[in-house]
This record gives sequence, structure tokens and C-alpha cells, in this order.
Amino acid sequence: MTQDITQIKNTIAVDKQEMWKQILSGIYSNIDRGHLLTIFINSAILSVSEDTLVIGFASIIGPEYVKEKYHQYIVAVVKAIKPEIDKVEYEMKSSIGNQDYPDKLPMDVFMQVIGSERKARKVPNKQEILLDGGMRSKILNQRYRLDNFVPGSENKLVHAAAMAVAAKPAGIYNPLYVYGGVGLGKTHLLQAIGHKVLENYPNKKVVYMTAENFINRIISAIGKKHTKPFKDQYRNLDCLIVDDIQFFANKVVSEQEFFHTFNDLYDNGKQIILSADKPPRDLEGFDDRLKSRFGMGMLIEINPPCFETRLEILKSKCQEYQMFISPEVFEYIAYHMTSSVREMIGVLTTVVGESELRQSAPTLQEVAQVVGRSIGSQMEEKTCATAEEIIDAVAEYFRISRSELLGDKRRKDYMQARQVCVYLIRKIINHSYETIGEYFGGRNHTTILHSCNKVANALRSDQSLQKEINDLKRKLGA
Ligand code: ADP
Ligand code: MG
Repeated sequence: MTQDITQIKNTIAVDKQEMWKQILSGIYSNIDRGHLLTIFINSAILSVSEDTLVIGFASIIGPEYVKEKYHQYIVAVVKAIKPEIDKVEYEMKSSIGNQDYPDKLPMDVFMQVIGSERKARKVPNKQEILLDGGMRSKILNQRYRLDNFVPGSENKLVHAAAMAVAAKPAGIYNPLYVYGGVGLGKTHLLQAIGHKVLENYPNKKVVYMTAENFINRIISAIGKKHTKPFKDQYRNLDCLIVDDIQFFANKVVSEQEFFHTFNDLYDNGKQIILSADKPPRDLEGFDDRLKSRFGMGMLIEINPPCFETRLEILKSKCQEYQMFISPEVFEYIAYHMTSSVREMIGVLTTVVGESELRQSAPTLQEVAQVVGRSIGSQMEEKTCATAEEIIDAVAEYFRISRSELLGDKRRKDYMQARQVCVYLIRKIINHSYETIGEYFGGRNHTTILHSCNKVANALRSDQSLQKEINDLKRKLGA
């Protein structure tokens, strides 16, 4: 009984939810947004006694982390609200993670509190611009910007050249030719330059595309006998960015068309930016004239980042995506993931995703598993068939020509082969329906989706179709 009375005396009757809301409103601007969304999102006041306030977090790392980084801010606000409290303590309580934990702020209130004075980030509406002649300028990914490309010591030159081109397109760095291995940031850099040019010169016509897009469009224009408007569209541009030009190899018609486009733009003082996996002189299956044109401007190699740069990249990704991760995890990932930035970021997002699901900070052992899986799968990875190889294999298998396969004649055997081909490209390379459509004379993505579904459904019962697909997969090493 005595104990009960003491408890009642010591526990001040406050609305814990309301008090936590006031505290959060006072401190949120000093807290890293990533921590707000990972640690504070599942937090609540556990108890308030005469002189002590106890705050709980569902996350295992919450109490220690908050004490170390944010204690002073919390104390300052608590003092202002309730001067009699002189001790703030932190505990872990996993049930706070439950949606219906009674003293937790409802999600909408929490978001309102932490987002109330933050301005929505302005995203310029530059993702897709309709150009003269109906051509679309696509800068595909707003996340690829120059300010979030970490140059490190090894890629300072690349970064500086990118800035220079964006500041003064068609200046001395024309064409700008960036080359290097996969996953090292070529696409990021190219699209980032596109954004920056548009930011500096909003009226310029900038087009980003992959060499594969270019090839598909020219083939489709030739098929429809619309080559003149096609050519004119390109010649109207101020800046043409073509990614992965190694795909022009041995595509004589497309390569020639690209050569003309290149010359026209260049002669008219327009900027050209290219990327490839090798320097021009090492490109195979290219006309020598084209190779020498590619090398006329600025050639820069994009290098694999060193350990320090990899750490920087991981930190910057975490900030950008508002993820929380401890320094030893960063270091472990950066140390082991050496060959591709893309793979390294893949590991980071898997680690964060898994730990969010578990509602606990990742242990090094768990991280090691994710790293091991990634390195293992890189080693196992077979050289994957390209869409072109799939098209050739399907045409050969069904004994029809490529143009019969890719054309639009509605003969039953062509249509069947076409559906199989679409299905395999989707299954093996996972291209978007839109991109697959481009291979088939610019067909609508819903038609492609329909073909994929049709084959997938028929596969359940149609044994001869099963055999065809299996034969082809085997042949393609998929
Ligand atoms: P590539 O085109 O060379 O294969 P990407 O441009 O697609 O490579 O890059 C793969 C991923 O790695 C992207 O998410 C990109 O943002 C990221 N990345 C690569 N290098 C850097 C860097 N230096 N700084 C920040 N992010 C990078
Ligand atoms: Mg790329």
C-alpha cells in the first residue's frame, strides 16, 4: 500500500503524448532527418516522475545514440516545458514499435510535427520536355545530380570536366567522352550534366538516351519510312547525350546514322556527351572515322573509387535516402565492396531494408552475410544474353527472319514467335515493357504486357510452349 502511494505521488499525471509532441516540436530541427525517420519514429515517453523523464525507443540503438547525439537538445527543451525535471533517461522498449502503442504519436501527427516547417524540396519539372517535332527530352532520373556525385581523389577530373561542360556547353570539351567499367557512375554523371545544363540554360534542348534507344528509334523510323523527321529532330538539339555507345558496334546502319547526327551537331556548335565501357581506340566493330571523331574532344576515364571515396559515397547515400547506419557497418561494406559502386549501394540498401524489417540495428555478422551473398552472386553471374541475341535466337529457332519477327504482320506463326521473344526478353533481361516495345517497331507497352501475360498463362498447360521456352533459355545460357 505504501509503495502504491509513493508511486502515485511520484508519477505526475501528464498527457505523455502531448508532452512528447511538444518536446519533438522543440528539438526536431536539430535532429538529422534520417534519425527522425528511423529512431524517433518509434519513440514515446515511458514515464514522468517529479524530477525524471524517461523516453523510450523501439530501436535497440536508439537510447545510446540519442543520449550521445541529442541529449543536450532534449534537456534544453524539457527544462523549458517542465523546469522541475532535471534528469532525462533513455530506454529501449520494443513494443513502442507496435502501431497501437498507447503513448506514441499517431503517424500523421508525428509527420506533421517533424515536417511542419520544412519546405517540400523543389523538383524542377524538367524530367521530360516535349521538343520540336514531338521528340521527348528525357533526363530520366532526378536523383542523378552533380552535387551528389562524390568525385573522390580519383574522379576529380571527371567531375571538373562535367561542371565545365554544364557551365559552357559546346566549349572546349566537345565531345565529352566518359569511359570506364560498369557500375562506376557513368550514367549518373551523364544525366547529371544534362540536369545542370538545363538548370543553367532552361531553354536549351537537351536529350539523354542510351545507344540502344537510338538504335531502336532509327530502326523503327526506317521501318515506317519516316527517316527525315527522325533526322531533323536530332539536328535541332543543343545537347545530345548518348550513354553506352559500345552498343553501336556492328550495327552498320545505326552507326552511320549516328555518325551523320554527330557531325551535324558538332559542325553546328552543339554539345555531344558520350559514354562507353572503353576508350574510342579500343572500341570494336566501329568505323575508324567514328572512333577518331569520338576522340576529338575531351576523353576521360572514370576510375573505381578508393576506400575513402567509397565511404564518402555510402555516407552521402545514407543522408540522401535518410537511412541510419553505424560507422563500423559503413567501413565493413566499403572495405569489401570494391569493384562496383552499384553493387556496394545495393548491399547498403539491403542491409538497411532488412534491419528496418527486424526493427533492430544490423550486426556485423548480418552485414557480412549480405556482402557475402553479393560477392558470391557477382562471381556466379553468367554473361547475360542481350536483347539482340534473344531476337536472333528466337528468329532462328522458329525459322523466320528478324524482320518477320520484329514486324507487324499478323500471321499466326510470326505472332507466336513474337510473343515468345517478348516474354524471353522480359524474363531474361527484365527490360521495361516500353523498351521492349521499341524493339518491335515502337509497339505500345500494353501490347507487350499483354504478350508477356499470355505466354505466362499458356505456359501453365501448354507443353510444347514449355519445351520451346526451355530450349531457347538453354540455348541462351539463361
Ligand atoms: P554505370 O553507368 O557506370 O554503370 P551508374 O551511373 O549506373 O554506373 O552508377 C551506379 C550507381 O552508383 C548509381 O546509383 C550511382 O548514383 C552510384 N554512383 C556511382 N558512382 C558514384 C559517385 N562517385 N558518387 C555517388 N554515387 C555514385
Ligand atoms: Mg550506365
